[in-house]
Amino acid sequence: MKISIDAGHNCTPDGGAIGIKREDPLTKEVVGKIINKLQNTTTKIIDCTPYGQAFSNVGQSLQYRCSKANQSNSDLHLCIHFNAGGGEGVECYVTSQTAKNYAIKICNEIALLGYGNRGVKDGSHLFVVKNTNMPCVLVECAFIDSTKDMSMYNADLIANAIIKAVTGNLIPGNSVIAAFQAACNLSGITDKYGNKLVVDGVRSDLTSSALAKVILKKGTSSNLVKWLQTRLITLGFPCGSGGADGIFGASTLVAVKNFQAKNKLVVDGTVGTNTLNKLLD
Ligand SMILES: [Zn+2]
Repeated sequence: MKISIDAGHNCTPDGGAIGIKREDPLTKEVVGKIINKLQNTTTKIIDCTPYGQAFSNVGQSLQYRCSKANQSNSDLHLCIHFNAGGGEGVECYVTSQTAKNYAIKICNEIALLGYGNRGVKDGSHLFVVKNTNMPCVLVECAFIDSTKDMSMYNADLIANAIIKAVTGNLIPGNSVIAAFQAACNLSGITDKYGNKLVVDGVRSDLTSSALAKVILKKGTSSNLVKWLQTRLITLGFPCGSGGADGIFGASTLVAVKNFQAKNKLVVDGTVGTNTLNKLLD
């Protein structure tokens, strides 16, 4: 299955709603989680959001998303939004029956998290829903101005709910975290009780307790260094001609420092708790 997706707003002059929280970072976070969780699965996902771009008007931002989705030839397009205006809960907008079938499941899965279920509505007045060639569901995950909704807000859980509704699969965790857990086990890093980690991709207390023991610096060789290099390379920080060879040398040091600078961390070239937490986001 191929899914195209866009995080509502997130560009100029197409800014999202502002309530107790801001819509832009929330839609971006949920979309980021969905993309992350679907990496290395059979579902292909294409992000159609023009993050940070500037357009002359909102219509151009919406047209950009439609064009990108239509070019991707996806089976389904998802628009992720948060609602405002004094309600509570999830609702979806569609035009086709196929989209409606997905939308009913999305509403049900998000409602299982505790949000009210406002159901599936006619989306024929919505530009992206109307102008995408494939079935399209615009998801208003929850209300940005509802105290109840915002106190429950958890991007991971909403992403899991949408993935389960659309693919039928429950993605319990994240492949990056699962790879980190496996690397800890291979490198002899245990949890606070001295046990190996369960490789489930979930950032549990036990995983955090193992993470707190990890320090990687120049001269270290281990499976964790290999994981670190793989992660850095994926994020666009090349680790030299050796690639992910498990040896923390000069090129890996440069990559770590660049990653730290880009993420406003202390640029010391040592990978400890703060840098690891950022790498796992
Ligand atoms: Zn919106």
